[in-house]
Amino acid sequence: MNSRRDFLQKITAAAIAFHLPSYGSASVGEFYKTSYDGPVLRVAIMGLGSYGTRVAEAMQACKMAKLTGVISGTPSKIKDWQSKYNIPDANCYDYTNFDKIKDNPDIDAVYVITPNALHHDQVIRVAKAGKHVICEKPMAINAREGQEMIDACNKAKVKLLVGYRMHFEPKTLEIIRMRKEGEMGKVLFFQGLCGFRIGDPTQWRLNKQLAGGGSMMDIGIYAINGSRYMVGEEPIWVTAQETKTNPEKFKEGVDETIQFQFGFPGGAVASCLSTYNMSNLDRFFLDAEKGFAELLPSTGYGPIRGKTHKGELTQPHITHQTVQMEEMSGIILGGKQPIVPVDGEEALKDLKIIDAIYLAVKTGKKVDLKL
Ligand code: NAD
Repeated sequence: MNSRRDFLQKITAAAIAFHLPSYGSASVGEFYKTSYDGPVLRVAIMGLGSYGTRVAEAMQACKMAKLTGVISGTPSKIKDWQSKYNIPDANCYDYTNFDKIKDNPDIDAVYVITPNALHHDQVIRVAKAGKHVICEKPMAINAREGQEMIDACNKAKVKLLVGYRMHFEPKTLEIIRMRKEGEMGKVLFFQGLCGFRIGDPTQWRLNKQLAGGGSMMDIGIYAINGSRYMVGEEPIWVTAQETKTNPEKFKEGVDETIQFQFGFPGGAVASCLSTYNMSNLDRFFLDAEKGFAELLPSTGYGPIRGKTHKGELTQPHITHQTVQMEEMSGIILGGKQPIVPVDGEEALKDLKIIDAIYLAVKTGKKVDLKL
């Protein structure tokens, strides 16, 4: 491609990224009816498990992002994905050779969707290969690792984004808009209830070496992250209490249930629950001087449902992973600024809070936070 055409395509990408209609508006349907010939983020997925599969399916509807490569340790999965998504042999890697992706001009970014404890090394290797990285949550298993990943991406001059799909969810964004524009008044309280009853005791999510912890790493992180974007401030202290009813299934270092509380600089407080052993827990509630907002369910794959003191939220449901990948393409290729950040620094704050929650559980003391 000549440099002028390249330049024009970049400009078009930025324009389209900035003019992509708000996902809360009806005009988003119109966007998908029009043709698009701007640049496309070409993505390789690393880890072809259940969430990787969901992301790949959702990306089929994307205009600005496309699956062009895979990284997997299972040859049969690679074969299946190759035929389903028309991926050439040259864009297929395993965990031993994916550093060679640096020589592949058909891949702009790698989306790391593997067990939590592997993210650190894999993200750093992708960064060293000079490709942008999208990493699943939790970005790492502690703040020290998270910082190392940010440093590696900065050094390699590649972008690091984290799969916070709720940051693009229309009903969530409407509550954030109402709060920012003062329609709710001063925020007083947030409640985040996040959990499910986990099955198979042999899965990696219950293995400290691969998961880095238990429910907090996997599902409690939604309440942590949600309390920050719903309240609109960073917590300044945390207290936390753990309950374990089944130490056989939830071994040392794998938390079953943790209740935790935050204090915010503006005076608001939050009360949250993270669990692997209760069903029907997916609810956010925000209370403010002039109103309230409730999301129930709040972070599942949707449709998300919610209401505020003004009535039912009616923004349309669009597959979260489709929207996320379109928006991330806009961020990486077009320099778009998301309403709620999805970068490594954002994820590092959650990791610092997780470290503090585990410390509060261990010591039984209130832990101060500086984010
Ligand atoms: P999964 O077990 O279904 O898939 C994990 C994949 O990693 C598998 O294909 C597995 O083969 C591969 N893998 C590579 N090395 C491995 C190793 N040493 N041990 C085990 N598996 C290995 O898990 P998942 O549900 O797809 O979760 C993957 C990541 O995605 C996790 O970090 C999780 O938190 C995140 N996730 C995010 C969301 C979301 O909504 N954002 C939803 C689900 C999972």
